[in-house]
Amino acid sequence: MILNKLKRRRPMRQVTVQTIEQVTPRVRRIVFGGETLAGFPVPRPGAHIKLLFGAGADPKKMRSHMRTYTPRSFNPDTNELTVEFVLHGHGLASTWAAEAQVGDPLTLAGPGGGMDIPDTLKTMVMMVDESAMPAAGAVLEALPAGCTPMVVCEVEDAQELRSLSATVEADPTWLFRQEQAASPGQVLENYLPEVLSKVKDSDDVLWWIACESNAMGRMRSQLLNQKNVSKKRLVTRGYWKSGASNHPDHDYGES
Ligand SMILES: Cc1cc2nc3c(=O)[nH]c(=O)nc-3n(C[C@H](O)[C@H](O)[C@H](O)COP(=O)(O)OP(=O)(O)OC[C@H]3O[C@@H](n4cnc5c(N)ncnc54)[C@H](O)[C@@H]3O)c2cc1C
Repeated sequence: MILNKLKRRRPMRQVTVQTIEQVTPRVRRIVFGGETLAGFPVPRPGAHIKLLFGAGADPKKMRSHMRTYTPRSFNPDTNELTVEFVLHGHGLASTWAAEAQVGDPLTLAGPGGGMDIPDTLKTMVMMVDESAMPAAGAVLEALPAGCTPMVVCEVEDAQELRSLSATVEADPTWLFRQEQAASPGQVLENYLPEVLSKVKDSDDVLWWIACESNAMGRMRSQLLNQKNVSKKRLVTRGYWKSGASNHPDHDYGES
């Protein structure tokens, strides 16, 4: 039943690992290829794909073996799809990525979701952790001319510094969890007042916050309730949740 539903929604594509690049100690960039990627739709900024790890065709195992990732880029000329994995040390996907070898098979589906970015946007505020940096890179590349990005990235330590995009300069503010012995998302949250002091909120500003779910919820609440940021211009995503395996992909912090 679940298998049928998933098949109806999006075709499952069998791919293999083409190349692996260790970008930082905690991030691996893996390029997937295969003829089944022919016709893969160009992903919208902030889109997601579903990766299925070793469940075979057993419908009972599919949900628990599926994880959500960002299609960082797709090259239709070579049918190559790039995904950037955070190696966080636990979990099916992180372990798979840490151990992946060229030639390994994987099943994926998508893309789905993603954002509409208004042509008139003047400022894009992005506050993200490592799991949302691939999406932040894709969003940066989709910003209209004349839009200024303000990007804040929370990472473990200075070894995690990296460029978000090969084509768009962003000059992010880097915040280090390790330096502040902070829980995930906490340094982003602590930095929110600084961001608010720099951004004059108006109809031309879009806020995008994607990180650990609990921290995202607290930041969302501050922006909505204390700073009166309009819901229409605030996109918040819990990309993962501390202590929860396979956190749902539709955590927008709206209760
Ligand atoms: C739309 C969307 C796009 C995403 N894109 C990406 C992406 O491009 N790259 C990426 O790396 N992640 C991305 N994520 C996050 C990813 O789906 C989760 O991190 C997922 O939980 C990883 O699965 P897992 O099997 O490794 O760990 P799980 O089995 O889900 O969790 C095992 C344990 O690890 C913890 N954990 C999970 N993720 C993290 C993390 N990032 N840091 C620290 N601890 C963690 C959990 O709290 C749990 O305790 C995205 C999520 C969404 C919703």
